[in-house]
Amino acid sequence: MILTFGQIFQRSYHEKSLQAKITQVQSQCNILASQVLLNEFIISGTTDNLNEEIDQFANVLEGRIIIVDSDYKIIKDTYTIEQNKHMMSNDVHDIMLGKVPSNCKIMNQNQYVEIMVPILDSAVMTPTIDTNPTPAKNSNPPSPQVQGVIICVFSIQDLVETDLYMQSQGRFLYALFIFIALVISVLLSLWISRPFHVLNQQIQHISEGHLDEEIEIEGSTESEDLAAALNQLLSKIQILENSRQEFVSNVSHELKTPITSMKVLADSLLSQEDTPAEMYREFMGDIAEEIDRENKIINDLLTLVRLDKQAENMNMNATNINQLLELLLKRIRPIASKRNIEIVFESMREVIAEVDEVKLSLAFSNLIENAVKYNRDGGWIHVTLDADHKFFYVKVADSGVGIPEDCQEQVFERFYRVDKTRTRETGGTGLGLAITRNAILLHKGAIKLYSEPGQGTTFTVRIPLIYIS
Ligand code: ADP
Repeated sequence: MILTFGQIFQRSYHEKSLQAKITQVQSQCNILASQVLLNEFIISGTTDNLNEEIDQFANVLEGRIIIVDSDYKIIKDTYTIEQNKHMMSNDVHDIMLGKVPSNCKIMNQNQYVEIMVPILDSAVMTPTIDTNPTPAKNSNPPSPQVQGVIICVFSIQDLVETDLYMQSQGRFLYALFIFIALVISVLLSLWISRPFHVLNQQIQHISEGHLDEEIEIEGSTESEDLAAALNQLLSKIQILENSRQEFVSNVSHELKTPITSMKVLADSLLSQEDTPAEMYREFMGDIAEEIDRENKIINDLLTLVRLDKQAENMNMNATNINQLLELLLKRIRPIASKRNIEIVFESMREVIAEVDEVKLSLAFSNLIENAVKYNRDGGWIHVTLDADHKFFYVKVADSGVGIPEDCQEQVFERFYRVDKTRTRETGGTGLGLAITRNAILLHKGAIKLYSEPGQGTTFTVRIPLIYIS
């Protein structure tokens, strides 16, 4: 593109300077023509040395001047070859007849230009003959009569040289431009890629385990935005990593507690000689309880892990929720009646929903079992079922100990228990509500709790009637 522009510019410059030179030579030839006319075509031996002047002029032009009189006789040829001969050329003949001469003729491989200038005598007038006459031209005024022709051939070597010089300069400028463009593009690409190079190094450093460090890059807005997005991602990974570590340490702690108790019980039995059989029985009973507890924790953990894994593997079926709840209550009622806790089930309508029966039973049984566990003796539990066109709602309300407001958010976390000593009595693992919430979320549902310490707790569950994966 730049090359094409350069060539167009150069061509137009060449044409302009050639035209300027032709005009200049033409006007000099016109002056010469009037001198020739003044000397009445006598050139050699004149007082003003016209002959020498013409030779000099031809020298300056590095060319040749031929002067032809009205009889077509060559009265001057600076090369002297054609001197005194007759010029039998159509172009000269046309000019003699009064036609306007063509502008120029370029000869010898663009090195010379030939122009013809008429020698006009304004004392003698003739009508103009046009090469391309139109009806309007007939009314042209008469023009001076042609008395002879000056043929001037001049060199345009200087223009050719200027052209060559400009061409070489153009090529040099072009090469220089390409070089500068290359240097700029290399520098630019280095400048653009630098933040990404730094980013790469920082990501490598972080991936070696330094998750707590932040990515810092300066540069364009885009690279800063990228760094901010990566930092956000890193902080999420950090939160996940923290919760994973916390979970692992909680699991170890929870699993270790029953083992420690068993060890203490076994050691105290072993350290005594002649231990009475009742004491053995009592301690072995305690050890069996600890084993049950360990077993429960492991089972709950396995359930939780299975729930996490089975997010994609839901076994959805149209299920009668009334029947599902009735069945659960049938199982729990005997446990509740041991502590005189009354369970009331209130169903507003028959509800059929698309659910995973096993997972949802687990969720509801945890809620109802908790309502028994954390209830006072002689208390009550109300389970209600309702639905609209989109969701069904299950409410489990109890008259139990309640949950303090500052603990209400955390009760759904794994291993969280409000009263550790009390839960030990009730045999809780702190995983029940985490399992419940996971199972409800898998159904695209929601769970909320309202509680007043000492008054009771109400859990409300909302689940879509139709499951959309
Ligand atoms: P846990 O196995 O200890 O019952 P959960 O995850 O089921 O574990 O419950 C977490 C904690 O939330 C319990 O330890 C208890 O303190 C509290 N909680 C759960 N349900 C109730 C309830 N209905 N009334 C009072 N407190 C409750």
